Parts: sequence; C-alpha cells; structure tokens
Amino acid sequence: MSDPLDRRGLMLVLSSPSGAGKTSIARALLAREPALEMSVSVTTRPPRPGEVDGRDYHFIDEAAYQRLVAEDGLLEHARVFDHHYGTPRQPVEAALAAGKDVLFDIDWQGAQQLKGRAEDDLVTVFILPPSADELARRLTTRAQDSAEVIARRMAKAADEMSHWSDYHYIVVNQDLEQSIAEVAAILTAERLRRKRRPGLARFVNTMRQAEE
Ligand code: 5GP
Repeated sequence: MSDPLDRRGLMLVLSSPSGAGKTSIARALLAREPALEMSVSVTTRPPRPGEVDGRDYHFIDEAAYQRLVAEDGLLEHARVFDHHYGTPRQPVEAALAAGKDVLFDIDWQGAQQLKGRAEDDLVTVFILPPSADELARRLTTRAQDSAEVIARRMAKAADEMSHWSDYHYIVVNQDLEQSIAEVAAILTAERLRRKRRPGLARFVNTMRQAEE
C-alpha cells in the first residue's frame, strides 16, 4: 500500500438525547462528505410520518429482529424506549473494507458495545442541547409525537445525557451550522491520524531513499 492517502475507514458515532439536533447534523455531514456512509439501523418501532423504509430505518417486526440477533447479524443492538434497535453488521463491514467511513446515529448503549468490539476504528461524538429549556422547547415543537411520548423523552433525555463523559468529543449544539462544522472538523482530524494510515511508512521510506 504505497498511496499515502490510503487509510482504514473509521466509525463515527453520533449520540445525543432526542431533540439535540443530531439528525440535522448527520444529514448535513452526509451531504457534504462523499466518503461517508450512513449506517441504516433496523428497528421494531413503527415508522413516523415521512420516514422511508430503507432510508431512515429498516422497519422490521419482532420475529425478524430476534432472527437477526440469533444469527449474529447485528454489530450492536439495544432496547430504546419501547422498541428494539440494531446496526446491521454486513453493510458496515463492507464499507470499512472499501476504505469508507460510516456514520452511526445510535444511543449510548450501542456506542458502549462498539467500544468493546471495534475500539480502534471508533470515534464517538456526543451532541448536547444548549440548555434544558431549549431541549424542552425542541421536544415540544416536534409535533409528530404525543404529549405522553414527549414527557417520557424528556425523562430519557436526562438519562442519555448522563453518559456524555464516555464519548471522545462533545459538541454543544447552540448553532446548527457551527455544530456541523465542528463535527466535520473532528472527522477531518480523525482521518489524518497516523494509526489509520498504514501506507505512510512506506511512502516516507520511498522519499528518503529518493533523497539518498
Ligand atoms: P428514534 O426512535 O427517535 O428514531 O430513535 C430513538 C433512539 O434510538 C435515538 O437515540 C437513536 O440514536 C437510537 N438508535 C437508533 N438506531 C439505533 C441502533 O441501531 N442502535 C442503538 N443502540 N440505538 C439506536
């Protein structure tokens, strides 16, 4: 591998409480980063209006989910709220092998499982809302969920936020454009890490030999 640009793909995990802006950040990153692929999770929760099967999630039933778990088809999986979620293993492994980076929108339980299995390739970012008031406002202006679901999400948000210190990077989403730029900067810096660039040693040796 003599191309100095050759590198291993990395796994970029974004976690946050619901309503912190993670989905908007993820969408913007995918639009501007051609070498970044989204990991599309499976879930047993029903689709929300506007969600597309195969794009937002693979919507599956409980039996299909249990089959995937049994055959070790998920890289990580967890119960979040009342439903099961999991990351299909095969597309992630194929993308990484092709030198692509993979973006994950998963919760702290999933991030923890990936840490145990693929620590070297893993970069984790926790997105925090700018304040509790702003989080409450964002959760209540998202009209798709019922009042009861919103109240439970507020309680869950506090629980999710308690895991912020397990992450490599913390982004406080005060301004969406700024947060997108910050996560893009993290991605750029992580791509340049020496450990992800196995071709560099040979590249530098070749230059040194040319000097002599
Ligand atoms: P939602 O139902 O609002 O789309 O997602 C609820 C939560 O589940 C979010 O925090 C999201 O990050 C998390 N989630 C989505 N997919 C996965 C997954 O494959 N694994 C894990 N562990 N969490 C997921």
